[in-house]
Amino acid sequence: MNSFLKPDSPIEYLKGVGPQRGALLRKHLAIEDVQSLLFYFPFRYIDKSQIITIRSCIEEGRWVQIIGRVISLVEKGGGRSKPLIAEILDNSGSIELIWFQSQNWVLDNLKTGKTYRFYGRLQKSSYGLNISHPEFEEINDLQNYSPKQPFDPVYSTTEALASKGLDSKGIRRVMEHLMLSIDLRSIHENLPSYILARYKLPNRADSLVWIHFPQNEAQIKIARDRFKFEELFSHQLKIIHSRIQRSLLKHGFVWQNPGLLYHQFKENYLPFELTNAQQRVILEICKDLASGHQMNRLLQGDVGSGKTIVALMVMLIALDHGFQACIMAPTEVLANQHLISFKEYLNQMGIEVALLSSQVKGKARKEILQNLASGQLKIIIGTHALIEDQVVFHNLGMVVIDEQHRFGVEQRSKLWSKSKSLHPHVLVMTATPIPRTLAMTLYGDLEVSVIDELPPNRKEIKTLHIRDRHRPELIRFMRDQIERGRQIYIVYPLIEESEKLDLENLQLGYEKLLTFFPLPQYKIAVVHGKLKSEDKNLEMARFVRGVAHIMVATTVIEVGVNVPNASVMVIENAERFGLSQLHQLRGRVGRGAEQSYCVLMSSNKLSDDAVSRLQIMVQTNDGFKIAEEDLRIRGPGDLAGTKQSGLIELKVADLVEDHKLLVAARQLAEAILGRDPQLAHPTNQLLKKLIDHQGEKPGWEKIS
Ligand code: ADP
Ligand code: MG
Repeated sequence: MNSFLKPDSPIEYLKGVGPQRGALLRKHLAIEDVQSLLFYFPFRYIDKSQIITIRSCIEEGRWVQIIGRVISLVEKGGGRSKPLIAEILDNSGSIELIWFQSQNWVLDNLKTGKTYRFYGRLQKSSYGLNISHPEFEEINDLQNYSPKQPFDPVYSTTEALASKGLDSKGIRRVMEHLMLSIDLRSIHENLPSYILARYKLPNRADSLVWIHFPQNEAQIKIARDRFKFEELFSHQLKIIHSRIQRSLLKHGFVWQNPGLLYHQFKENYLPFELTNAQQRVILEICKDLASGHQMNRLLQGDVGSGKTIVALMVMLIALDHGFQACIMAPTEVLANQHLISFKEYLNQMGIEVALLSSQVKGKARKEILQNLASGQLKIIIGTHALIEDQVVFHNLGMVVIDEQHRFGVEQRSKLWSKSKSLHPHVLVMTATPIPRTLAMTLYGDLEVSVIDELPPNRKEIKTLHIRDRHRPELIRFMRDQIERGRQIYIVYPLIEESEKLDLENLQLGYEKLLTFFPLPQYKIAVVHGKLKSEDKNLEMARFVRGVAHIMVATTVIEVGVNVPNASVMVIENAERFGLSQLHQLRGRVGRGAEQSYCVLMSSNKLSDDAVSRLQIMVQTNDGFKIAEEDLRIRGPGDLAGTKQSGLIELKVADLVEDHKLLVAARQLAEAILGRDPQLAHPTNQLLKKLIDHQGEKPGWEKIS
């Protein structure tokens, strides 16, 4: 028999599919050929290996499997479709089975006096506890009975597919055909045998059979692990490989040592001592800059850990070697904030700084662009506007990207290309403390530095959770803080889907606030996304200069804003924020010498889940702990905006659950590429293929 389907045969060729279902499979599940169907994995299994006694069928809603003899089979009641009711018996008791449809088919196949295996869900009806529409299979030899297929795979599907017969059961049937229609030897192994042996992984073909139609639980686990490892390992192999290639190919500007400007700044203008962590990070960066390779480094540091000053000093090193440097911020507000602090430092040293954003227009813009192109302007601060094509540098040597998670890889590489000769060195800074596992996966192509120490004399921020009914206490507290000369942030959530409502909410809150904090005694600034940029800047400036006591804002202030005198952060509807976001917001206070507070306001009624999430915030100030919790609760998809940036797409593995596998996969990839960076060795030929097949993405379902 030589009629096997090839792995790349169109899905329509498979028995039971055809053009109509084929089109749906393509559209809804991106399944194009039989191979991609083969890689459409079940997300759970129904365990049919357990058979229970009828007497223990007591729990409504439970899926059960029983073996019993049919003692009666009758159509009962009136109405159009009389239900068919069977009573079955085992040596512990009896139960009723009910069919409301297909009675004739059942009557043909179910015979009184014979014994069957039944599988279905216990439910209550006017007839008492029963099972409706169970699956059944006749059993001839009760003594030696074992189910043909102890685990039924369950596949996720869509309504449209289900309506064309491709519900989970339908997919299972198609999958059964597929297993018979394909020569599993045509599914090639993609991991070398020494890896399979070392990690005791089954081969690819067996794993495919086991993941769809396992004979026991061990097969499920071992097959899943195999595909998880395959996924994590090939991902790690790719990113580490590309990192190595880049370091081999991409030469960078060689800057042996920091020069005059750097030292001048450090000795004469730096207003404080650098922390040990800051010093260590600068040293790591200096090594990169002297190495001859282009730097691509991620600088992680909790909010308030002092990343800005590190950026500034690193940018000065570029100037020391005659190059330009830029820093890119994700928002206008943050770019402005940087402008203010950079100016403060650099103007004393006679270094000019300018800001470029979409708001900078006309003559001012023209002048900046000219000065960048001529090289007269050495340091530029900007938003996304910096990556526009019209922005041309004379010799860009250093790019700093603040708050990485808002920028995708693509935007990063667009900045690289701004340099005509070699790529500039790149420092990416993020205040989202990304758990190590995730950092490994997301930023495997970057070197990582961590500032794990806060500047001295910071007082721990006190965090409180207050429900709406206790708002009067909050007002008293705020008045007291303002009397002491402190400033206060009040942040409202702003979610795109409910933007209009959220803005109304903010407006309402602001108006109420005015009654508690009336002019002229109190001054309140308002900042939100719908404000014109000039107004936004004006309002920000009022708060930064200390003119306004309170700033009411949406999350635009989330990143980077630095007002040391602001010591209270009130977050309204705190239950609507993610933990990492709350932590970011909290980091806006606690920057001065005063005791700072973060008040999480919530509605009076909260789910247990929301309470415990807010409790985590009350209990810890450790950004890493919070990020881990957030990752655990929300899954990695949402963390750090990874979804938008499309940095990561795991189909089978789970970053939290499969942490150990990930570490093993990474170590293995490092070791192999360390010995054989080009994967030239004969035993690594499969791996070379794995890397070259960048585009191959089977339609894997996430396994839960
Ligand atoms: P982030 O890492 O969140 O960007 P910033 O760079 O804005 O933090 O720094 C927060 C505050 O800490 C700033 O006011 C900055 O001047 C101050 N700071 C930074 N480094 C030190 C230090 N070594 N000693 C004292 N204060 C510092
Ligand atoms: Mg910052």
